[in-house]
Amino acid sequence: MQLHLYDTWHRAIRPFTPLQAGVVGLYCCGPTVYDYAHIGNLRTYLFEDTLRRALVFNGYAVRHVVNITDVGHLVSDGDDGEDKMETGSRRAGGASAWDIAQRFTEAFQRDLAMLNALPPTLWCRATEHIAEQIDYVAELERKGYVYRTTDGMYFDTARLDDYGHLARLDLAGLQAGSRVEMGEKRQATDFALWKFSPAGQQRQMEWDSPWGRGFPGWHIECSAMSAKHLGPWFDIHCGGEDHIPVHHSNEIAQSMGCHGTRAANFWMHGYFLQLDEAKMSKSSGDFLRLQTLLDRGYDPLAYRYLNLTSHYRRQMNFSWTALDGASQALDKLRRLYASWPDGGAADADFVEAFAAEINQDLNTPRALALVWGLVKSERDDADKKATLGHCDQALGLGLDGWRPAVADVPREVSEMLRARETARAARRWREADVLRDAILAMGYAVEDGQDGATLKPVG
Ligand code: AMP
Ligand code: ZN
Repeated sequence: MQLHLYDTWHRAIRPFTPLQAGVVGLYCCGPTVYDYAHIGNLRTYLFEDTLRRALVFNGYAVRHVVNITDVGHLVSDGDDGEDKMETGSRRAGGASAWDIAQRFTEAFQRDLAMLNALPPTLWCRATEHIAEQIDYVAELERKGYVYRTTDGMYFDTARLDDYGHLARLDLAGLQAGSRVEMGEKRQATDFALWKFSPAGQQRQMEWDSPWGRGFPGWHIECSAMSAKHLGPWFDIHCGGEDHIPVHHSNEIAQSMGCHGTRAANFWMHGYFLQLDEAKMSKSSGDFLRLQTLLDRGYDPLAYRYLNLTSHYRRQMNFSWTALDGASQALDKLRRLYASWPDGGAADADFVEAFAAEINQDLNTPRALALVWGLVKSERDDADKKATLGHCDQALGLGLDGWRPAVADVPREVSEMLRARETARAARRWREADVLRDAILAMGYAVEDGQDGATLKPVG
């Protein structure tokens, strides 16, 4: 079955074909790196990783670009309020905004690696694309979409016929009921492309531009970087559902103005993880992040498994009970997988049925249900292993790489393994071989790797 994906622009599930044969351009809005990512943010990146894996599963090469928002943006969705990077810098007791950005970029990349998310083909930083953003705004200005106020250069949304189509915005209602601080804006929906540094105030992050010293608006970085790295018309643009009414509507407006395209053929959105406000809000300083789950003894992949149990287009409530359930299910799957022998053949009918669920707008809950059906079936264990190993390329549960922790191995076995290591170090090869056979008789194969020997349960 062909891959079908939900496109927010059309409000419909559409068959997916790449614009250029074989290669898919995928742009995902990345984190604002003034603090750690919370587990809600990570839900969105897990959805995007599942999408990436589904594309690869369908045989496409993917050029996956993720931006790092390391330039100061404002805490509110409007164009006023406090700057997030400068606030993060103050909170960290004076570390520079640049250091803060570096620290939290690395923390974010570590989180993704722990969740077994494939690294993007390209990370791009907003601060390394200031010239491209200035050029983009200059082009919009040449085409007549930009006006000046005392605090910055603004996009004139009235110049577009269908501004807000992505979100099906009710423009008249918005204008009438606007609670946004209008300042000198002409329409409530107009937004900053370039903000001026406040007079008499030295910002840590500011640049010269044709309009005055300042910094780029929130939305321009994604338009400039996606156009540079994927072209002005590419396959898929993703983000969380909160981006539909503001950030992505504005990216589309910029792209329409500059290139006459809506930037991407598919606009896809991950729905929110719900949790009580304080635990999810970065500004509260007390929120759930991946490390919090690790501190409580959970494997990061249990959180990945939990996300696979709910469809990305449904909001999901987080609970510790649900995470416990995911953790137990993953543990069971890993143990069974590790206990099955290698050398089987993948079941083509099963793989086709599994792919059909993934290809139906990434229906991971149904795909997981199929997996449990496979586990419980009467098929040969080696064939189950080959089949599940293949399907795990789409699920990303890392089943192939998992080994039981040494603590799970009976004490005699781990003592025999240690004795074998000692024998090998002393070059007493026969003794080492006898111990290896004795360990095998207890149900564990010894695998010698670069980092020493590990145990793998057999049959
Ligand atoms: P930010 O670092 O705030 O720019 O957010 C990074 C990504 O996380 C964006 O794509 C947001 O849409 C997404 N996001 C924010 N809150 C949540 C949430 N509670 N659940 C899922 N995704 C979220
Ligand atoms: Zn973006």
